[in-house]
Amino acid sequence: MIQVQTSAAMAALRAMESVVGARHVFSTDEDRRDYSDHFAPDEMERLHEPSGAVAPATVEEIQAIVRIANENKVPLWPISRGKNFGYGGPAPVLKGSIVLDLSRMKKIEVDPAGGTVLVEPGVSFFDLYDYRQQRNLPFWISVPGNSWGSVAGNALDRGVGYTPYGDHAARICGLEVVLPDGDIVRTGMGAISQGPTWQLYKTGFGPGWDTMFCQSNLGIVTKLGLWLMPEPEAVLGLNIDADKPEDLKWLVDVLGPLRKAGILQQSPSIGNWLRAAATMTTRQEWAEPGNPLSDAAVQAIRDKFQIGWWGVALRVYGPLEIAEPTLGLIRKAFDKQPVWKMAETRWVRGDPPEGSPATGVPVTYPLANANWFGGRGGHISFSPVLPVDGDLALRYFRRNSELHAQFGFDYHPSFAIQDRSMNNINQLLFDQDNPQMVENLDKLFRTLVREAAADGYAEYRTHVGYMDVVADTFDFNNHALRRLNERVKDALDPNGILAPGKSGIWPASARGGRP
Ligand code: ADP
Repeated sequence: MIQVQTSAAMAALRAMESVVGARHVFSTDEDRRDYSDHFAPDEMERLHEPSGAVAPATVEEIQAIVRIANENKVPLWPISRGKNFGYGGPAPVLKGSIVLDLSRMKKIEVDPAGGTVLVEPGVSFFDLYDYRQQRNLPFWISVPGNSWGSVAGNALDRGVGYTPYGDHAARICGLEVVLPDGDIVRTGMGAISQGPTWQLYKTGFGPGWDTMFCQSNLGIVTKLGLWLMPEPEAVLGLNIDADKPEDLKWLVDVLGPLRKAGILQQSPSIGNWLRAAATMTTRQEWAEPGNPLSDAAVQAIRDKFQIGWWGVALRVYGPLEIAEPTLGLIRKAFDKQPVWKMAETRWVRGDPPEGSPATGVPVTYPLANANWFGGRGGHISFSPVLPVDGDLALRYFRRNSELHAQFGFDYHPSFAIQDRSMNNINQLLFDQDNPQMVENLDKLFRTLVREAAADGYAEYRTHVGYMDVVADTFDFNNHALRRLNERVKDALDPNGILAPGKSGIWPASARGGRP
């Protein structure tokens, strides 16, 4: 493992002051803490503490910063708004890296004819939502469950939302990127110096590079094109609750084919009672600290908040002429199932905003779940990708429930049904002030990764503290994928100045003899 020399990092930060002005360089102890991951255990936070941060406002400033990083051989960790909570927030993989904070870059360019937007990294979901509202644009954005972050950073880290445009990385169309040597490239049709099709056609001519800059450390994205969803005439929905843990099987088996056939256009996420409850109450109201939550306590929570053991929100978007019969078809698919509760939702253009991520409205309340255990709340996510299969979901749910209980955690799973896969996103909630829990967190996380890998399943995204652990599970042909990633890394970033360790990709100097 390489170490960042503090003296080199400080020299680089001082040199960066002449580029952006001293007030946009942050290098006090307090600044370092600000740019750490406040949802990670203290020890982990220190392991990923940056040397400081620099916040440029222009592409030219970024190029100058990249030059300084190369001269001083000091790594930069680019963030857009740094709200990647559960996965590290603003914190780098490699301690001592300088956070390149792009949150001052806030330009928004909408093409109303094309239904697209070009955002700079600092544009938050709230910024884009406000922009849309102020101009009454007939387009919706897709926002993640906790929408504090940036449009660009979330798409680049393959975040997800709840509308038909919820696969954010899939809606990227054209990037502007500063490469580790300071060169600027525009991908796809943006490679033409002048032209209107950059945000309209994804791949351009020859190889397509947009995905190469997602979850990678090969470039600093300074502009990101995204398709916007034309505002539908109506959003009709069913909120379905199921009463028993084993109901997960039929929920998955009913929803999978509807999603695969495109009858369901969005990816519904089946969450357990804790996902719903953890934003509304805390554990200490229901159990003594350190004691397991009894079935009676779970039932009491469910009774109080009127929630199922599982709950899922289904939404259909489009003209009423299509949405109404489609919803009828979906409702019929549940006819023979022991649904506990089914409630219809209806929004038609002209109604007041429905106010949830299902209609592209950003929210932050889900982050309240970090308070579940009390103390200073923390959370990290374990997110394996599985085939869409009810039996498998149930088996996984049962085994992971047991593992959580064994290590003293409450299980907070969700299963998002995507076109062809199921993302099992599990929030590992914990109390940072409980040392036993912090110790067990690491053990639980590693056990979950190991057991999933033994069955051939791996994570789609992970916390900065576990990027190597997860990358290790992609082991086909002696980790050929990592070898490819690192060959590209060496070619583009010979000094290893950009986000070393991101997604388990290290520069040659840090591989410790690994090929
Ligand atoms: P958000 O604030 O939207 O939640 P972050 O800024 O925390 O997103 O970014 C998530 C991750 O994506 C970061 O840790 C970083 O690895 C990567 N990333 C974010 N912005 C950029 C960018 N502009 N260029 C390259 N990588 C980025």
